[in-house]
Amino acid sequence: MKTFKEIKKLLHVATFFTLMVCAVVLTPSCSDDETVVEEKVNEITKYKTPKYIFYFIGDGMANPQINLAEAALNNTGFRLKSSSIGVGDMNISKFEVAGMATTYAQDRYITGSAAAATALATGEKTTINTISKNGDRTRNIETLAEMARDKGMRVGIVSSVSIDHATPACFYAHVNERKEYYNIASQMASSKFDYFGGGYAKGNFPSKGDGDILEKMKGAGYAIATTREELAAVKSGNKCWAYNHKTDRDGALLYEIDRPADCLSLTEFTKKGIELLDNENGFFLMVEAGKVDWACHANDAVSATHNMIEFDNAIGEAIAFYNAHPEETLIVLTGDHECGGLSIGFAGTGYENMFDLLKCQKLSYEAFTYKVKSWQPNTSFENALDSVELYFGLRNTTIDETLALSSSETQRLKTAFDLSMTDEKGDIYGGYDPFTLTITHILNNKAGLAWTSFKHTGVPVPVMAMGQGQYEFSGYYDNTDIAKKIMKVGALKVD
Ligand SMILES: [Zn+2]
Repeated sequence: MKTFKEIKKLLHVATFFTLMVCAVVLTPSCSDDETVVEEKVNEITKYKTPKYIFYFIGDGMANPQINLAEAALNNTGFRLKSSSIGVGDMNISKFEVAGMATTYAQDRYITGSAAAATALATGEKTTINTISKNGDRTRNIETLAEMARDKGMRVGIVSSVSIDHATPACFYAHVNERKEYYNIASQMASSKFDYFGGGYAKGNFPSKGDGDILEKMKGAGYAIATTREELAAVKSGNKCWAYNHKTDRDGALLYEIDRPADCLSLTEFTKKGIELLDNENGFFLMVEAGKVDWACHANDAVSATHNMIEFDNAIGEAIAFYNAHPEETLIVLTGDHECGGLSIGFAGTGYENMFDLLKCQKLSYEAFTYKVKSWQPNTSFENALDSVELYFGLRNTTIDETLALSSSETQRLKTAFDLSMTDEKGDIYGGYDPFTLTITHILNNKAGLAWTSFKHTGVPVPVMAMGQGQYEFSGYYDNTDIAKKIMKVGALKVD
């Protein structure tokens, strides 16, 4: 969440504020002090209604995912053991106001992305898998993005997963089940929002002819851009749906660690969104880092971290905009839930971390799984271990070094490899490819990281804010309150 430096700064501000209050109480005639206190109180309680609202949501992101990215960034260069202790600079560290939110759904303590995003988009709890409807699915709930649209602001929705996935969907669609992808994507075409960026529509696999989502979007006046050049050609004021010409099988952006040079990044989709949405009536832009969650489901810390750093770059675009428009901008950042039960600390490594080892992984679990699936049934375990060394740095050697596989680790890999080669899932691999999962577990553990789950966990998420109304977001509250605070600060709810 906050770096030590930031916390110290906040404590300093709080202490200063307390001292000033005491000073005023003890010496009521001191007008200079009164002025300082009044200015501080004004800073905290008075703000202008922001014209530009950014809402960043890290899917599967809580404190461990943020802090791991900070720690990984701090450890540049390949060293067998970290000599530099601390955290690297991230844009996330620049937020001066931090809070914390509970995440539970109406009917389950550990939430899912649909219920969580409904809370974050509407300010109301709902049931698992419900998209911006109430818990028994009898009523649509208006979203922040719809409120902003109706107020005359331009609206943009950006996500690294398919644009009809739960989190983005909760800002423009109202359906009973998150898996109604075609229904959700159809509502994108009737949303009258200005910009959709990032993922393709899972609901358009396969294309449905007359009902094709692309045709619906074009019919609704959206320009379609699938390359850097096409997106650059879209002019401000034009409605646009931008996605990469290469996606994963779900229509999502490829993992940042695997992203080909000719594919746009989350940051590029965000930057273009700002350009297209900027206008005198203001805008509301939601940006989701969706595949942090997917990488954490698969217990792949490296892919999650690369996507976290890319998310942080996208946040940097909003901060640059804020710096140009500090009197008119609000940026809110939160996660929808934690995923994987990621911990910085592992029983086998005690107090040690070796974040540098994470640099040895060269591709995502997803990309490696495709390689494993492509291997012939007669592929030898020895050949498989060569790939493990090539892509993850883990070595089958008797030399005592950090990346050497122990005999028990090699045995775990052999057991998993045999399952993978017979296309069996096993019962301890969370449904992922056994061989790939065992590799990421071993590498993560050697770095001093551990996982407790293949699913979400119920811990609170951080909330950070920058800009007009930022102090409204300090404290500990429920995830539904985040949306309510944005409604209040942004004067979005018109009764
Ligand atoms: Zn998830």
